[in-house]
Amino acid sequence: MQRRELLKDLYGEASKCVRCPLHQTRTNVVFGAGNANAELMFVGEAPGANEDRLGLPFVGAAGKLLDKLLSEIGMSRGDVFICNTLKCRPPDNRDPHPIEIESCQGYLHGQIELVEPTMICTLGNFATKLLRGDITGISRLHGREEVRIIGPRAVRLYPLYHPAAALYTGSTLEALRADFKRIPELLALGAPPQPEPVPELPEIEIEPESEPLESDRLRAPEPAPQLGLF
Ligand code: URA
Repeated sequence: MQRRELLKDLYGEASKCVRCPLHQTRTNVVFGAGNANAELMFVGEAPGANEDRLGLPFVGAAGKLLDKLLSEIGMSRGDVFICNTLKCRPPDNRDPHPIEIESCQGYLHGQIELVEPTMICTLGNFATKLLRGDITGISRLHGREEVRIIGPRAVRLYPLYHPAAALYTGSTLEALRADFKRIPELLALGAPPQPEPVPELPEIEIEPESEPLESDRLRAPEPAPQLGLF
C-alpha cells in the first residue's frame, strides 16, 4: 500500500481515539498535514483552539510565523509534513500531561515510520524531550543537529524553539530565525547513515528438556582444578 493510504489509515484510527481523557474535550483530532513524502517533518506540541476547531495543525498565530520562516528559506507547507506531539487539544492550552504524551506517542511514531523524513525539527520542549528520550531543555539544545535512531531508522533531529515562544520574545525569534536558516544546508546532507538491519534469525526447534536421571543427580560434583602454585 502507498504511504499516503497507510497514513490515511492511521488518521482513521487516531480520529476515533479514546486512549486518554482529551477525547472528551476535543472538537477534532489534529492528526497532521502536509506532504506524505516530505524529507522534512516538524513536530510541535499540541493543537490550540484554532487547530481544534479546524482539525489542522499550526493554523493560528504560531502557524503564521512558521509559514513566514518557511518562506524565508524558500519552502512552503507543501514541502513538509507538520504534526504535533499530542493530536488533541489540552483544555485551556495547558501543558500536555505525561499520561497524554504516553498514550499518544504511538501515532507520532507511526507517522515518522510512514513518512520516513530524513530530518525532523522538533518545535519546543515537549517534542524535543519525547523524541530524544531525555529531559534536556530546548534552550540548551536548539540549533544543535544530531543523528538519532527513531524506530528502525536514523534521522537528523534538529531541535528548534517553538514559534509560539518566539511570538512575544524578540531574542527567541532571532534565535529561531538563525536556526531556520541552516535547514537547507542540513537537508542537503541527505539521510544520515542507516543502522545495519537486524538479520532475521533462523527458527531453531528447541527440544523439551528431559528430566535428569536419578543417577546424575546423585553423582558427586567434579573436584575443582588445582592451581599450580610454586
Ligand atoms: N502549537 C502547537 O504546538 N501546535 C499547533 O498545531 C499549534 C500551536
